[in-house]
Amino acid sequence: MKIQIVENVLKLNDEVAAANRARLAQGRVFTVDLMGAPGAGKTALLEATLKRLPASTRAAVIVGDLATARDGQRLQACCRQVVQVNTGKTCHLEAHHVARALQRLNLDRIDLLIIENVGNLICPVGFDLGQGAKVGLFSVTEGDDKAAKHPFLVRESDLLVLNKVDLLPYVKFDSGVFRRDVARLRPHARLIETSVTTGQGLDLWINWLLGCCATLRTRGRSGGPVAIGRGRPRKTRPARKDAAL
Ligand code: MG
Ligand code: ZN
Repeated sequence: MKIQIVENVLKLNDEVAAANRARLAQGRVFTVDLMGAPGAGKTALLEATLKRLPASTRAAVIVGDLATARDGQRLQACCRQVVQVNTGKTCHLEAHHVARALQRLNLDRIDLLIIENVGNLICPVGFDLGQGAKVGLFSVTEGDDKAAKHPFLVRESDLLVLNKVDLLPYVKFDSGVFRRDVARLRPHARLIETSVTTGQGLDLWINWLLGCCATLRTRGRSGGPVAIGRGRPRKTRPARKDAAL
């Protein structure tokens, strides 16, 4: 009974994710699950982010990849607490990967934890890690059809980032198509356009992260700033004109 096995795997994952969420809430750590395709610029965005975060925000990163510690090594240059997870043949992070990585972090000394998921737009969406928010990262080099082709990522993400916008003059990417697809799938989606090369949008992205951390601090253990209503649209704060659809 294949379906039964899949259900059991997801149920076990949800239990471990709930334990992760409780540990992170206890340590008052705001946690982001960053999902995007290979080459979308996840690690580069994190490098730029970690360099720009105020010193008062203590950050840590868990980075998932099938093989190599290359991303972890890159991120170590800008962050003291980095844990590299190699998943072998598994094409996404699961809650138990994160649980093991959390054992190697001092949660009392972390305000913001960013989890760079394995480069993949599909199954990372289905595995709760215990995060406070999910971020879906697309880049203009992937083509303007990717939001429409990955509706679950769009619907489940609390924030969408469109990266590498500095390359728009050189690639076939119709922003109108992409934005219309996003709006159809998630009417009140928050979308930030970024470029690590020019710095465009990085302030908006970092302010969003800092806002999430601040809300967690004021709300305390009752939870993160964004309701992770799986499948349900969350209530969004009025978005800034240039940040929203
Ligand atoms: Mg990477
Ligand atoms: Zn997978």
